[in-house]
Amino acid sequence: MNSIVTFPNRIPVKEFEERRFKVYTDRQLDKIEAIQNLPEDTLFEMKVVASVLPFRVNEYVINELINWDQVPNDPIYQLVFPQKAMLKEEHYERVAQLHREGADKKEIQTIAKEVRDELNPHPAGQMEMNMPELDGEVLDGVQHKYRETVLFFPSQGQTCHSYCTFCFRWAQFVGDKDLKMASTDAGKLHGYLAEHPEVTDLLVTGGDPMIMKTKNLVQYLEPLLDPEYDHIQTIRIGTKALTFWPYRFVTDKDADELIELFAKLVDAGKHVAIMAHYNHWQEITTDIAEEAIRRIRATGAEIRAQGPLIKHVNDDTDAWARLWKKEVQLGIIPYYMFVERDTGAKNYFEVPLAEAFNIYREAIKKVSGLARTARGPSMSAGPGKVEIQGITEVQGEKVFVLRFLQGRNPDWVQRPFFAKYSETATWLHELEPAFGEEKFFFEDEYEAMKKGNG
Ligand code: SF4
Repeated sequence: MNSIVTFPNRIPVKEFEERRFKVYTDRQLDKIEAIQNLPEDTLFEMKVVASVLPFRVNEYVINELINWDQVPNDPIYQLVFPQKAMLKEEHYERVAQLHREGADKKEIQTIAKEVRDELNPHPAGQMEMNMPELDGEVLDGVQHKYRETVLFFPSQGQTCHSYCTFCFRWAQFVGDKDLKMASTDAGKLHGYLAEHPEVTDLLVTGGDPMIMKTKNLVQYLEPLLDPEYDHIQTIRIGTKALTFWPYRFVTDKDADELIELFAKLVDAGKHVAIMAHYNHWQEITTDIAEEAIRRIRATGAEIRAQGPLIKHVNDDTDAWARLWKKEVQLGIIPYYMFVERDTGAKNYFEVPLAEAFNIYREAIKKVSGLARTARGPSMSAGPGKVEIQGITEVQGEKVFVLRFLQGRNPDWVQRPFFAKYSETATWLHELEPAFGEEKFFFEDEYEAMKKGNG
């Protein structure tokens, strides 16, 4: 039972039973009761795919978020359970054959790694381009891509309460050490922030930082209350725990300390923004999910919602409109609709940009102004965050109207540019400049940056 936490001028919370966190991985597929009635072929396919792509699901998601009458089409089932078509036929067959032959774990892992290496495990130049230095040393677990925002990947937060099948950070979860980008070094993070007064926003991300114990989070965040860090105005925490494990904010042993930490940061003048990853309204249908939201908001922290548009999960206008309405009702600010990144099982999940724009536009038309704060569809591409603003015709040529919401060069931001319309393109690199131009305006500069001259 959680204790009743009462902050001055804040509403006391209801009582909820504490719940044990029980998680299943690819090695425990046969222990998940809910799937044992599925056809045997389906179970075998799951096993094959789960030996290549990360798989992890907890009991709360299985029992309370998935509507098993709708499986396999249930969006949350698609969000967490592996499907055969997530792998290309040739990849699937290679791994399936090993399973059929009863190959040993090591053999399967070797082939699985080869397959993974072909799935663009680090999209958008994450490994090569965004690593900052302190005293001449590269800082592990810190990325500084845009001038005002630093990303921090604490090593204790490099997993999640469940895994999304489409996760663009999937490579971090499958044991390839050289692909991990994480740090335990609070001192180095603070040292870097102290030396960079242009940074206003710290984004703590993962995996899911909410998987960490509160005491770890305190160690990273509380020092930022020192006047030396007054330039850090906003602390953002990227998380899907509001979906996968809302108990984290309500009944977990250190939930009260977590809520107190948020309150302390807010009371000291920081803007605390919980960047909640939501894909579907079905994620916010339980009492505990609503209570977690209410508790966070009672501290003065804001919750902003973002998530990618994913085929089989939310490629549906009504689903987005309903999600945004629900968010606004609960006091969450709709923030981004992302385009799914060019990595992992993208063949299964990708939605062409033209279709993505139409889904966004139709969904926005169905909601009130307060829900129209959702921007998108937006691609977090190498040069920056590029939003599709529209599809139109200019002097007889059908084009996409694009703009940078964020750019490696801040001067690129808000500058409209145009690409030839395409029915099939799913990412920035598949687009061609419109009006007979050879290159987009930013390309030469971006290439120079990649070579380290920019
Ligand atoms: S919660 Fe986020 S980091 Fe974790 S698996 Fe899902 S998308 Fe990836």
